[in-house]
Amino acid sequence: MPDLRPPRSGAPAEEVARTAAAAPDWASLAAVAGGCLACPELAATRQHVVVGDVPVSGRPLVALVGEAPGATEDETGRPFVGRSGALLDQLLAAAGLDRAETAVLNVVKCRPPGNRTPKAPEVARCSGWLHRQLDLLDPPAVVALGLSAAKWFLGPRTVLGQVRGRPHDVGGRALWVTYHPSAAIRFGPNGAPRAALAEDLAAVVGSL
Ligand code: SF4
Repeated sequence: MPDLRPPRSGAPAEEVARTAAAAPDWASLAAVAGGCLACPELAATRQHVVVGDVPVSGRPLVALVGEAPGATEDETGRPFVGRSGALLDQLLAAAGLDRAETAVLNVVKCRPPGNRTPKAPEVARCSGWLHRQLDLLDPPAVVALGLSAAKWFLGPRTVLGQVRGRPHDVGGRALWVTYHPSAAIRFGPNGAPRAALAEDLAAVVGSL
């Protein structure tokens, strides 16, 4: 049996990655990630580790990846369930994709206090979980929602406007980049981010 003790407080990224890589399936990963203490500030202030949503059975058609949980996600333990989640569900449905057929994940699994941007060491530590999640789920397509998620896949110099609208090959998987639903909400129903998000999700679904 693999050693699946949750990473201790202050554990380095390598320890998190080793633990994640040892998880043989989604349930094991979710159980051990749920007790992760690696980022001391986040572990002290979070209510839940928001590990992610996956289809009840079968391989997800798409994995959607955001930056980090917000307040509602932290309270409920589920990703994208606040206003951003409602808009995401609506735009996925309009594109012809049921959220139940997707995996919904974040780069960082614990809510940063006050919704601050996750710090680089937190992103580095939490990366092991996301790498293993993508290995286990093996979705044919991945959608990075927003610039932080886009940078996780494509590097720190990524400019969202330059990479959206077409697939990128990342480890043999099609990666799409688009706006985060919160940007679509911020700029309003007639704003450019919402139109771009709808258009990009339709392109992803069209590619499946
Ligand atoms: S953010 Fe990730 S690495 Fe940090 S404590 Fe939460 S689950 Fe662990």
